[in-house]
Amino acid sequence: MTTCTPVKTTCPYCGVGCGVEATRLPDGAIRIAGDAKHPANLGRLCVKGSALGDTVGLDQRLLTPQVRQDGALARVSWDAALDKVAGGLRAIVDEHGPDAVALYVSGQLLTEDYYIANKLMKGYVGSANIDTNSRLCMSSAVAGHKRAFGEDIVPGCYEDLELADMVVLVGSNTAWCHPILFQRIARLKESRPDMKLVVIDPRRTATCELADLHLPVKPGTDVWLFNGLLCHLASEGLIADDFVTRHSAGLDEALAAAHVDCADPLQVARICKVDPQALLGFYRDFAATRKVVTAFSQGVNQSSSGTDKVNSIINCHLATGRIGQPGMGPFSLTGQPNAMGGREVGGLANMLAAHLDLDKPAHREAVQTFWDAPRIASKPGLKAVDLFSAIEAGTVKAVWIIATNPLVSMPDADQVRRALDKCELVVVSDISAQADTNAYADVLLPALGWGEKDGTVTNSERRISRQRAFLPAPGEARADWRVLCEVAKRMGYDGFDFTTPQAIFDEHARLSAFRNAGETARLFNLSHLVALDAVQYEALAPQQWPQDQPRLFGDGRFAHADGRARFIATAPRTPHNLPDEDFPLVLNTGRVRDQWHTMTRTGKAAKLSGHIAESFIDIHPQDALLYSVREGELARISSRWGAMVARVVHGGGIARGQVFVPIHWSDANASDARVGAVVNPVVDPVSGEPEFKHTPIRIEQFRVH
Ligand code: SF4
Repeated sequence: MTTCTPVKTTCPYCGVGCGVEATRLPDGAIRIAGDAKHPANLGRLCVKGSALGDTVGLDQRLLTPQVRQDGALARVSWDAALDKVAGGLRAIVDEHGPDAVALYVSGQLLTEDYYIANKLMKGYVGSANIDTNSRLCMSSAVAGHKRAFGEDIVPGCYEDLELADMVVLVGSNTAWCHPILFQRIARLKESRPDMKLVVIDPRRTATCELADLHLPVKPGTDVWLFNGLLCHLASEGLIADDFVTRHSAGLDEALAAAHVDCADPLQVARICKVDPQALLGFYRDFAATRKVVTAFSQGVNQSSSGTDKVNSIINCHLATGRIGQPGMGPFSLTGQPNAMGGREVGGLANMLAAHLDLDKPAHREAVQTFWDAPRIASKPGLKAVDLFSAIEAGTVKAVWIIATNPLVSMPDADQVRRALDKCELVVVSDISAQADTNAYADVLLPALGWGEKDGTVTNSERRISRQRAFLPAPGEARADWRVLCEVAKRMGYDGFDFTTPQAIFDEHARLSAFRNAGETARLFNLSHLVALDAVQYEALAPQQWPQDQPRLFGDGRFAHADGRARFIATAPRTPHNLPDEDFPLVLNTGRVRDQWHTMTRTGKAAKLSGHIAESFIDIHPQDALLYSVREGELARISSRWGAMVARVVHGGGIARGQVFVPIHWSDANASDARVGAVVNPVVDPVSGEPEFKHTPIRIEQFRVH
């Protein structure tokens, strides 16, 4: 595979899903440019995307299958490794039942990989114990969408951010985490200075530099703020009565819940710890501006009341009928490149393929019939945090971890270490030889990485794009879908005779059309993409689903059986664990501009470390003084779950009582650098998403003994 012709593909980092043109140069270097024709980015790339060429190559790559023998991982043939995985899973299923095994996968997988993983677990093993690191990032948005709309649908598109007269960014450092979208907003702001940008975030982030208003809410108080907005809209007579009456249900209950302690904006301002005039100004601007987009991300989702936060935002858009029309609507910004594709194939423990519901017998029957599967999971599986608890408890005895590094990324990450230590069979598929989780593998399988694998991803605006290979497979690495199919066949299952990602995509598209008959109709439908031939699949242009519908619900028809949207009564509640004498500060975690997840790829690009070279603990100078830690020196933060060490900084954006630490660094970079070890394993009761934004901690000087 030698070429100087640009190959169109998609960036593998954030959920913006930018189009990339990658060119292999004669000297082996990779030239990266933005794809001018891709609707997500129109030629632009952020610094991470631009550095993609520096992250490929053999350095730090896992190149051969390995099996643990006498305590050490030793190179084996693929046949031996696959037999070990299939034989191990089969034996555990036979002895302990289907729920004794699990897959833990990733929003980094391509849709085709995800589809096979889900089919194997739910239709053949017969357990829904397949969850994903997307649980950690956007499952509250999924749950909120399903409650409000009847289906997991993002109603709008990126263009809406440019058509809006007011953009509200909630819990989102868009400038760093979705940089190209932020550039689109910034350009708009330049040409239309009257367009209002409001940022609601406890931290003063880079995103605030462009904002007309920053509301630095107390962590965890978003529901109060948006319930207060709903009350304000009602008290000002600004409810869209016709829309609400004809197209929704539940406003009275939602208003009753909101009125309990959010009817008075002054009280809301006190609870949220924001300036009352600023809050009222926001309420008035929201009320007076028809074209409003409220975009939200992890600051909303990663909370023990994440789903309610999502619904409190959606409630305000439904109340004003501002949804599914140009320049207006709630908008979930997904973190990962294929979080949305994973949702399409049902790659979460409480979902079925093709947006069908695990708890509906007719849906289960439709999927089982389509797959001609011997069985179908009949109940939801274990969500990420519960899954690792079950492994530690010994009820789940085998786990196959694909394309994710839970030893770093999970909350209470030390529990993951204990769980994997105890687990009878740990299989890890990864591209990196240095991922922290590898050390716990009984079987280590080399996977294809970006530039080597072929398939599709779906971005935050429901746009499917191709990821295309332009590099040969390194060493003995194989595509995840191929490895999953091989294991399935060795376990004795039919239905996995795929030889190309195109064939898998075709089955995925056909399933979406199959179940769209009769009462199982869903908006997710790829019937127009059924039976693509190899050339058509190869040439597949970026496109949204449903076909030619950049916006949904503008006609007032929602996906609930009665066609009506639902207001959700969101009674506000505080974060699960609150600061106390022993743990007086609140830890907030998140991303930095130039790194991605646990740095197994971005860590290879020297220029990306130029921005921020090491982990840090960002704390207010007065708190630093109070707790006797100094800027530039190492400090240790600890919670009831674990501890980590990093250098103290004063970034300038942190309020008193709070601390921010990035999620990326791990023990592969420096010892005791995993912030996941500190994060409380509390989850939202509806979505199961962990509360990464609110862990009580203490801080002290770090002394080397
Ligand atoms: Fe990649 Fe996201 Fe940057 Fe686009 S904005 S280039 S998808 S990291």
